[in-house]
This record gives sequence, C-alpha cells and structure tokens, in this order.
Amino acid sequence: MVAPEDLADLLADPYRVACPNGHTALKPATTTPSAYCRTCHESYHANELVDRRVDSCKPYRNGNG
Ligand SMILES: [Zn+2]
Repeated sequence: MVAPEDLADLLADPYRVACPNGHTALKPATTTPSAYCRTCHESYHANELVDRRVDSCKPYRNGNG
C-alpha cells in the first residue's frame, strides 16, 4: 500500500507506483488520494496501490573495479 499523504509525490515517478494488477503510469486524482489505471480502467485508492520502491540488495560500487 501507499500512504495517502505520500501518493502524489510517488506518482511523480511513473514507474514507482503500481495498481493491484501490476500496471504503472497511473494517473493521479486531484481531489482524493487515489490514482487511475488506464489499463484496468479502474481507479484505486492509495491503500490498494503498490509502492514499487527500488530497494536494491546489491552494494553500490563506484566505477568498474
Ligand atoms: Zn491496472
């Protein structure tokens, strides 16, 4: 789920938030903490959306070794 107060910020990145079916590029609603999925033709509340936070397990390496 996505915190309603964070939704607008997260939707600024089109690949950050996914609908419950895994689609991205959601369209934020202006009046409610929700977003519209053009693929599903459905609107989802922040609680239903998925934060696809890039959380790499790999340590970052500077340069090519
Ligand atoms: Zn969808």
